[in-house]
Amino acid sequence: MKNETGLIFLGAPGAGKGTQAQLLAEFLQVPHISTGEIFRNAIAQKTVLGLQARSYVDKGELVPDELILDLIRERLSQSDAQKGWILDGFPRNVSQASFLDELLCELNQSSDYVVNLEVPDEVLTTRLLLRGRKDDNEQTIRRRLQVYREQTAPVIDYYRDRGRLHSVDGDRLPEEVTESLKQIVISIPDRD
Ligand code: AMP
Repeated sequence: MKNETGLIFLGAPGAGKGTQAQLLAEFLQVPHISTGEIFRNAIAQKTVLGLQARSYVDKGELVPDELILDLIRERLSQSDAQKGWILDGFPRNVSQASFLDELLCELNQSSDYVVNLEVPDEVLTTRLLLRGRKDDNEQTIRRRLQVYREQTAPVIDYYRDRGRLHSVDGDRLPEEVTESLKQIVISIPDRD
């Protein structure tokens, strides 16, 4: 396995991105960067970002790009991100995906793999209702899945078209999903 590993995690709300990204980040010893987590912390701490993002997160809408792009630039510029990272929840639309491509180029970094966790719709809703986060009520869940289909699903095609997509069946036991993900990252070839 090479030293720097940049992984992008895609998947609908409830697909298990957060759990799997966290486990894999520990395995690879790289930071787990969750934009949803960044927003939830900012909201809890009532920072300016939190106050601006709150109504969007509560409604299940995407936070506007202008609130997140600088934040991603800063986070990926930090020293702990120079050895790799796992992005969970970003990019969430095609304009964020093309921004990320340019940013990685500018920072002399790369995303080695884009992983899409595939889980059937009916399983997603059941999982989200069981999870019980503040934005996991029925109305918000419906909106988040709709936003996912309209704005985030095209990101899958964006990476598929560029030959960078790895699909993983996320409708299995968590440890089986983790095992498949480890197999993917272990096979990442060295970059020279
Ligand atoms: P998540 O924890 O990834 O499900 O994100 C929770 C919420 O944070 C989403 O429903 C959005 O409101 C917001 N959010 C997270 N990541 C992004 C992003 N990349 N762009 C816009 N909004 C985001």
